[in-house]
Parts: sequence; C-alpha cells; structure tokens
Amino acid sequence: RVPSAQSRPNQSRPRPTAGDEQAVSGFADLGLPKPLVKALAREGITEPTPIQQAVLPSALAGRNVLGKAKTGSGKTLSFGIPVLDQLAGGRAVPRSPRGLILVPTRELATQVERALAPLAAVLGLKVGTVLGGMPINRQINALKAGIDLLIATPGRLGDLVERRACVLDKVEIAVLDEADHLCDLGFYKPVDALLAKTPSTGQRLLLSATLDGEVDKLVRRHLPQHDLHEIAPVV
Ligand code: ADP
Ligand code: MG
Repeated sequence: RVPSAQSRPNQSRPRPTAGDEQAVSGFADLGLPKPLVKALAREGITEPTPIQQAVLPSALAGRNVLGKAKTGSGKTLSFGIPVLDQLAGGRAVPRSPRGLILVPTRELATQVERALAPLAAVLGLKVGTVLGGMPINRQINALKAGIDLLIATPGRLGDLVERRACVLDKVEIAVLDEADHLCDLGFYKPVDALLAKTPSTGQRLLLSATLDGEVDKLVRRHLPQHDLHEIAPVV
C-alpha cells in the first residue's frame, strides 16, 4: 500500500467524539453529511460492508483507491458515497460534470444510477447518464443544462467529448467501476483517453474483481499513487 500525499484541504470533516449521541449507523461514524446518512438508512443501509469499511476512509480522505472485491460485496456505495460527498455543496457547470463514473455496460449504468439517485437527490445534486443506444440529443441537452455526476459508458462519452458536448477538465473525482469488464469488453483505449482528459490532480477510484493485465496498466497510468483495499473472498 502506497499512501499518497493527496488531501482535500477545502473540506473539514467533523469526527464524532466518544459521547456522540446520534451514532445511529456505522455510516454516521464516517463523518458523512447527515442527510446522506438518513437517506442511506431509508434504503435500509445502516452498516457498511467490509469493502465499504475498507475503502470509505481512504476515499473520503481524498486519496486514490483501488478496491478489489467480488460481486455483491457493496462496491457501488464504496465509490458512490465518496463521489457524492466530494460533489455536495458545489454547483453543476454546463457541459462540465464534476464527478464521472465509467461503467462497461448500459445495464450497470442503470444499476449505479438507481443506487445513487436517491442519495444525490437529498444533496441537491444532478445525476445524468450517457449510454450508447439511447438518443444522443437528449444527452447533449442534459449536459448543457448541467450535470454534477455523470454515469457513462466509454463509447458514447467519447462521442460526446468529440462533439464538445461534454468537457472533462472540471472532473474532481473519476471512478472506473468493473474495470476488469471495461478492459474485457475492449474499452482499455477509450477509458485511457477519457481519463487522460480529466485533471491528473483529481481523485480517482478504481473497482475491480481483478487487478492485472490492462487494469494494471490503467492503474500505473492514472492512479500511480493509491491505497489498495482488497477483500478476500471467503472460501
Ligand atoms: P458489487 O458492486 O460489489 O457487486 P453492489 O454495490 O451492487 O455490489 O451491492 C450489492 C447489494 O448489496 C445491493 O443490492 C446493495 O443495495 C446492497 N448493499 C450495499 N451496501 C450495503 C450495506 N452497507 N448494507 C446493506 N445492503 C447493502
Ligand atoms: Mg458493482
């Protein structure tokens, strides 16, 4: 594990003291915005899963993170919560999302959106999706109106960037979800090109079931400094 020197100087995160009365959930102990903790509780989510327990402190501290854990372990919130926490309080900029989540498939994009939309809503954040096979004009208009958090498949996002309907130079936090599947589906090159358009000073999170081959190449190019959190499967 290589601790990075990154930090988020513009945010102070209050830590609960021993006598904190309202430690209603394990998420409250992480210093998350209260509305977010409440929204999680409404979804029945009160205790972080092991991968969330591992990833959240690093990611909430602003560091790059590699998270390796099997399907069903709760990776979506392990990156979703830090993304929303980073974006909370900011305003949407036309054509320039401040948060970016790259996913391999339309189905996964929809799943991630479903998981994060109710949480984003309580923070007043706009979430948008950019997916292949869907009308592009609607996506162009939504980007123009301003999206805080963009969930995208690489091909369509590449098209929109090429048309200058989307600019990535304001991305504060970028996520690769299912990085192994992104690479398996042949998206190494577009993902590499898209990440290269985001500020190298931004935060990056990469979630995957495996971390070798092209995933490792992405890591070396875009997250050279990171915290690694690996949850071994129970055998
Ligand atoms: P992965 O991406 O690792 O495959 P998901 O993020 O899709 O896993 O989560 C799998 C399921 O677990 C989802 O239905 C999600 O709502 C649920 N889940 C995630 N985190 C928690 C939690 N802390 N408490 C209860 N359920 C959770
Ligand atoms: Mg997942």
